[in-house]
This record gives sequence, C-alpha cells and structure tokens, in this order.
Amino acid sequence: MESFKIRLAMKNLLWIQGLSCNGNTQSILNAENPQIYELFSKINLLYHPSLSVENNVLDIVEDIYRDRLSLDFLVVEGAITNNKNFHKIGDYSIGEIIEKLKNKARYIIAIGNCAVFGNIPSLYKENKDIKGLQFKFKEKEGFLPSDFKTSSGYPVINIPGCPSHPAWFTQTIITLYYEKPLILDKFNRPKELFMYLSHDGCIRNEYFEWKYEAEEFGHKEGCLFYNLGCRGPITHAPCNKILWNRVSSKTRAGMPCIGCTEYDFPLRENYFETKKNIGIPEEVPLGVSKRAYITISGVAKTLKNERVSKKLEETD
Ligand code: SF4
Repeated sequence: MESFKIRLAMKNLLWIQGLSCNGNTQSILNAENPQIYELFSKINLLYHPSLSVENNVLDIVEDIYRDRLSLDFLVVEGAITNNKNFHKIGDYSIGEIIEKLKNKARYIIAIGNCAVFGNIPSLYKENKDIKGLQFKFKEKEGFLPSDFKTSSGYPVINIPGCPSHPAWFTQTIITLYYEKPLILDKFNRPKELFMYLSHDGCIRNEYFEWKYEAEEFGHKEGCLFYNLGCRGPITHAPCNKILWNRVSSKTRAGMPCIGCTEYDFPLRENYFETKKNIGIPEEVPLGVSKRAYITISGVAKTLKNERVSKKLEETD
C-alpha cells in the first residue's frame, strides 16, 4: 500500500524501445546535473529495458491501458514498426504497444533520431512501415497521425540526435515536470535547445569568418566547413552551447558536425567531404544567400589575418 501511495504522488515515466542501438540509453547514463538517479528520485521510473531489474513491462502496459496506473511520460527510443520479425516486446510489436499507450500518456517524448525521424532503420526499403513516431524523415508521415496530440495538448515532443545529448532530455523532462511551457519548432523539437546551430559557440568561428580551412581532422586550427563536410552552419543543435561531458564537441575536437539532429542525417553520403559546384559549397550557411556567401568569402579571402594563418602555438 505504501509503495502505491508513492506511485500516486510521483509522476510516472515508462521508457520503451523500438528498433534502436540503445545509444540514447547509453547517453542518458552520462547525464550530469541532474544525474539520472537524481532524476528518477523525482520521477517514478516504471520500466526501462536496460535499467529495470524486473521484466514486467507488459504488466505495466496493461495496467496503464486499463487505467490502473497513470502515465505522465512515455519515452520512446528507436524507430517504430508493426513487423514482429524486426522487433517484439512479448508478443506485441512496438507499434501495438504505442497504440495501447498513445492516449494514456500525458506527454510522449521521442528520444534520438530513430524515434524522431526513423533514421537508419527507415532506410530499409523492403519494409516501408519503419518510421519515426510522427515523422518519416522530412514528412509528417510517422507512425502517429500528423495532427496527433496527447492530453497535454502537445504533439510528440522530439529530441533528435544520434544520440541525443543527455542534458537535452533532462532539461526537457524537468520543464514538463514543472508544467512549464515548451515552444516547439516545425519538427516538434524544443526551440530552447534547437533554435541554436551547432556552429553557434564553435571555437573555430574565427577560422570560418576568415576562411582558413583545416586540411585534416583533429587539428586545433582551421574550420571544417569548406573541405571536410562540416554541417555546423546548417544543423539545429546546441552541441557547442551544451558541451558533451561538459568538455567538448565534435567540432572542438576537429571532427566535422555530421548533422545528426536533422531529418536527412542518414540520407546523405560522403559525410567528410563538402559537396561543391564550381568551387562553391552546394549548401551555404542557413539564412545566407549563395550570392552573399560568395561575396563575403571572396572579400575575406583577399584579406590576411596573421593570427589565424599561424599554428596556435606559434601565435604571440
Ligand atoms: S568547424 Fe563547423 S561548426 Fe565550427 S566554425 Fe567551422 S563550420 Fe562552424
């Protein structure tokens, strides 16, 4: 009886997985401030496929479905399918589980690009029913209807990334826990996080402005946009604002941003190469016309910046 009272007082969270590499689970284990055990001391974790000791997910799903248990947060990791040859939870497909719970959860959160956009599993051409929860790549043709909303009035709240950063998840869930409003963008991503570009806050911005390109990965100097395929200026993600492990990011370490928070992440080829047309990148920074980009680049290239043209160790 005591534990039942606690369950009633706390908000309940159920985490289920579809077609997934478990990467977002691995990511949230690295959450800091709050750490994941602190989060789950406030929120009652009903079940998580990797963290729960008891394998009683179907009992919990049935209790929620029969209104014997309330569900505040349904967190979905992985792409959705009804094909049981690909994925099963007991005798149910992940799609059947979602059907049972979709009108019971106050909030549904899709974590990671597979649950959000379908991502790599959705590339499988033989099975077209593999999707994200509310999107399949760019289209609002996910598993749930495009106008679907939970009782909170929100559509599926999308936290993309391959994987997503743990703080993007904890920040979102704490906002909802305290019933604070979330503003979402056109892909239902929280704007507070995804209105930034991965380029914002990158320590290579000075090289970007002066058009000094890195020739190789892993070096301290140079921007990775022009030759090495960096998608920082076209990718909505706060990777250089909320650092990974509070220390670094891909671009800080000399690796291009591969745009893994966007719908087209797995549709692209040659991640480490910038596609160009007569020497001009095919995709220019968001908000800038090609003409403006060519003009500004041309001017920057005619001017020499002594500082950024040297190795950092050699600067005064
Ligand atoms: S490396 Fe990428 S994110 Fe960093 S400044 Fe260059 S283009 Fe922007």
